[in-house]
Amino acid sequence: MTESANPFESLQSQIDEAAAHLDVGQDVVERLKHPERVLETNLTIELDDGSLERFKAFRSQFNGDRGPYKGGIRYHPEVSRDEVKALSGWMVYKCATVDIPYGGGKGGIVVDPRAYSDAELERLTRAFAKELRPMIGEDRDIPAPDVNTGQREMNWIKDTYETLENTTAPGVITGKHLESGGSEGRVEATGRSTVLAAREAFEHLGKELEGATVAVQGYGNAGWIAAKLIDEMGSSVVAVSDSSGAVFAPDGLDPVAVKTHKNETGAVTGYPDAADELTNEELLTLDVDLLIPAALENAIDEDLARDVRADVISEAANGPITPAADGVLAETDVFVIPDILANAGGVTVSYFEWVQNRQRFYWTERKVNEELERIIVGAFDALTTTMDERGIDDPRTAAYVVAIQRVVDAYEQAGAWP
Ligand code: GLU
Repeated sequence: MTESANPFESLQSQIDEAAAHLDVGQDVVERLKHPERVLETNLTIELDDGSLERFKAFRSQFNGDRGPYKGGIRYHPEVSRDEVKALSGWMVYKCATVDIPYGGGKGGIVVDPRAYSDAELERLTRAFAKELRPMIGEDRDIPAPDVNTGQREMNWIKDTYETLENTTAPGVITGKHLESGGSEGRVEATGRSTVLAAREAFEHLGKELEGATVAVQGYGNAGWIAAKLIDEMGSSVVAVSDSSGAVFAPDGLDPVAVKTHKNETGAVTGYPDAADELTNEELLTLDVDLLIPAALENAIDEDLARDVRADVISEAANGPITPAADGVLAETDVFVIPDILANAGGVTVSYFEWVQNRQRFYWTERKVNEELERIIVGAFDALTTTMDERGIDDPRTAAYVVAIQRVVDAYEQAGAWP
C-alpha cells in the first residue's frame, strides 16, 4: 500500500474534479463538500456476563436538498467519523445519479459483531436506535443495511422506533424482513445493479458478456449475488475472495457452491473445486474482462492500479478505488463504472420499499426488478450522454457532473433560508 486514503478527502476530491466541469460557484461547491450535521454518540450496554461496554457510534446527515437523508448503518471495527462522513456524501450523489428523491446519510458503530452474542447485538442496536430516534423518521432520515447489518438489525431498529413513538412507521427504515414490510428483491438489489451496469458498459464498449471472465473481491451480500447473477448471464466467474483470501479456477467457479462452502466453513478458501488459492491483491490484478470490488474502501490504491489488467470495473463496494488509483486507471483505459451508479440498486430498491410502505401496497418481485432495470439503464445512458456531450473520458466524473447539477438545482430552487 502506498497510501491509506482518507475516504472523506477522496469524496471531496471527486466533487472538485466534477465541479470543474460545471458552472457552479466555489461557495456552492464548498456546501456540497461538507455534511450538514454529524451525531457522535457513546452507547453503553450490558454484556451477557453482566459487565458494561461502551461503543462509539455515528450518524452523518450530509445533504437533504433532494429529500430525506438516506443511507445504511454499518458495524465494523474500522468505522470512523471521516469514513461515515464520506459514505454519507457518496449517498447524496448516488441518489442523485439514479434520480430518486433522497438526500444522503450514513451511520456506523465501531464494533466487530463477530465478537458479540445475538442478545448483545440486539441491545447495542436498540441503544443506537434510541439515540437515533429524534433525528430519523419516514420523511426525515431513513437508515438501511450496510456492511455487517441486514434484515435482523433493521427490524430491531424499526421496532424500537415504533415502540418509542407509539406508532407504526415501517418506512422509517428499509431492508427489513419481507413479513415486516420489506420489499421483494431488496437483498439482491446491490448485486443486481452491479451486473446490470456491467452489462450496459459491455454493450457500450462493444464487448460480449457471454463467456467474459469475471473476478469478484468480497463475498458478502453484494459480491456473492453479483457473482451468481453474472454467472447466470453466461459469464465465467474465475475468482472470488473474502477476508480469508481468494479461490481461483480458470474454467470458472460455481458461485452457489462457493457460497454454500462459505456458509459451512466461514470462508471461501478451502473450497475443494478451486484450481488455486490467491491473495486479494492477486485477484485484483487478474487478467479478466470484468472486476467487481465488493468489499471495503481503498481496495485499489495507486500502486495496485498499475497492475490492474481488467477491462471494466463495476464498483459494488463504496469507494474501493482511491482518487490516485483512478488517475492510473484512466491512463490505462480501464472503464470504471462508479459506485454511485453500479451499487445504486440497493438504495433504489430501498426507495421502492419505502414507497410500498407508504402506500401499504406491495409489489411483485418482477415489478421490482423491472423498475430497477429501467432506473439503472436510464442512469447509465445519462452517464454516457454526459461523457459524449461534455468530452469527459472518466465515467466517475461524468456521474458526479450529472448528480451535482441535480443537487444544486434543488438547492437553488428552494431559495434562500434563513
Ligand atoms: N448501504 C447501501 C448503500 O451504500 C444501501 C443504502 C440504502 O438502501 O439506503 O448504498
